[in-house]
Amino acid sequence: MVKELVIVSLYPRDMNIYGDRGNVLALQRRARAHGFEPRVIEVNPGDPWPDRVDIVLGGGGQDSGQGRVATDLRERAETIRALAEDGTPMLMICGLYQLFGHRFITHTGEELTGIGVLDVETRGGEERMIGNIVIESAEFGEIIGYENHSGDTVLGSGSTPLGRVAQGAGNNPRDGVEGARTGNVIGSYLHGSLLPKNPAISDFLIGEAARRRYGGFEPRVEHDETAERARQAAKRRPR
Ligand code: GLN
Repeated sequence: MVKELVIVSLYPRDMNIYGDRGNVLALQRRARAHGFEPRVIEVNPGDPWPDRVDIVLGGGGQDSGQGRVATDLRERAETIRALAEDGTPMLMICGLYQLFGHRFITHTGEELTGIGVLDVETRGGEERMIGNIVIESAEFGEIIGYENHSGDTVLGSGSTPLGRVAQGAGNNPRDGVEGARTGNVIGSYLHGSLLPKNPAISDFLIGEAARRRYGGFEPRVEHDETAERARQAAKRRPR
């Protein structure tokens, strides 16, 4: 039996910066290695939402790109919230991480209302947090990526951090934590792209999707030597 996994790539036209599309490619490759047949459906503003969704991926963008997708995202809020509550795994990077929170107030004072799937709030600040970043997570081990944002994000009690910052800034320059997680929804500032360098997170997304759709997950791949080398190279790079 072909085990299909439907991956929604959310707003690839407006929200794809620093190669966030690489997350879609890496996830497809990893899903195939685990024996699944991935099917990617791109959803841009105005597009229909597929009937069946197993994983949702979203990337980052400039404040202007966020402005272009925010209204469309709010129109889909109930659908996305219902999927999140049902355990659908999702990974939202940077600009969409901010819009999956309650709101993003840009540095010019414009308020973009988010969909509140993650219990976070973001304000555009004066300081740009930029460079390679390493975070530690109990579940995923060391997570390695690249951040570039002026958004300063604060977590409420409904989300837990994705990890503790070992090198870099993370959600803001004060708290020493990065990203947010509520159920199976992860938000993070880590570009890079994230998934090619962090197969443990791909496995989490695939595993949760497989358990939800097919009632189980038996991982078939373990080590990814290319990913390992990319991780080591990124870690050696100065911030
Ligand atoms: N505009 C947002 C910020 O700078 C998001 C940037 C991004 O997605 N890279 O905080």
